[in-house]
Amino acid sequence: MTGQLIDGKAFAASLRERIAAAVPAFKEQAGRAPGLAVVLVGDDPASQVYVASKHKATIAAGMESFEHRLPEDTDQENLIALVEALNADDAVDGILVQLPLPGHLDEKAVVMAIDPDKDVDGLHVINAGRLANGEEALTPCTPLGSLMLLKDQLGDLTGMNAVVVGRSILVGKPMAQLLLGENCTVTMAHSRTRDLPAIVRGADIVVAAVGRAEMVKGDWLKEGAVVIDVGINRLAPEPGKERGRLVGDVATSEAVDHVRAITPVPGGVGPMTIAVLLRNTLVAASARAGLTKPKGL
Ligand code: NDP
Repeated sequence: MTGQLIDGKAFAASLRERIAAAVPAFKEQAGRAPGLAVVLVGDDPASQVYVASKHKATIAAGMESFEHRLPEDTDQENLIALVEALNADDAVDGILVQLPLPGHLDEKAVVMAIDPDKDVDGLHVINAGRLANGEEALTPCTPLGSLMLLKDQLGDLTGMNAVVVGRSILVGKPMAQLLLGENCTVTMAHSRTRDLPAIVRGADIVVAAVGRAEMVKGDWLKEGAVVIDVGINRLAPEPGKERGRLVGDVATSEAVDHVRAITPVPGGVGPMTIAVLLRNTLVAASARAGLTKPKGL
């Protein structure tokens, strides 16, 4: 079997188009554009790149983008004061504090200060609890984007065996909750799991969110499985090259011989994250304005 490479870039582009197409109706009804505030503390180069691309994508979708760049030595009190000001600002529907924060700041306390109804990263315990209870929740962008790709491939996921490798608050745990919500039989695996290959072999759906280059081997996979590779790992540079290659948590070149479909790295799950952030912002804006959730999002 030669599996299909899932084009996350194209899917994300079409999602962004659908979001941009829904924004004018929101504007007309609410009398303003949806607004996303992004807070960046310090000058970590990777975070600067992420924040710049979020800003660009927000504007392109017809939304307001509010960027707050704070110096590296910002203290906890001032950061929380900014979050509280954004909570109180009616023009702001979504608040994202770019993580990781510099070491002297308490990330958990900062996330907990965000109004759960503006928590477009879905990291507040109220949103994790709503998701676990099967209620409407703002859900972390990467797992929600992964679920969209799975449903696009497979349609109804009812009754399928899904294995999620990794149990982080950002990816693994919300992914498992989303799959449970779709009536999958979900197994969560992690670093203490015994005989991971045997567990993965039973899965119709595999989501790998580990952070270990090409850990999941081709012969671990059931014939015809659909695989979502969330991992982003940079290999050591080859001789003469400045930067190493990006690879996922799955050995893609082996896996394609076994699977029905798999997300490549890069170009699979990665592009979905910002598209879902925009989706969450529009959903949060609609809820705050008392409007129904835009269809198809
Ligand atoms: P974390 O480091 O927070 O979690 C990794 C998880 O993998 C942990 O639960 C850990 O288990 C588990 N794990 C580690 N080693 C093994 C092993 N040998 N066997 C089985 N499980 C193992 O990572 P994240 O969830 O934040 O991210 C995972 C990957 O996804 C990373 O590569 C990250 O860069 C990428 N990522 C990509 C995004 C995107 O936009 N595409 C967004 C977010 C993340 P334990 O709990 O027991 O320690």
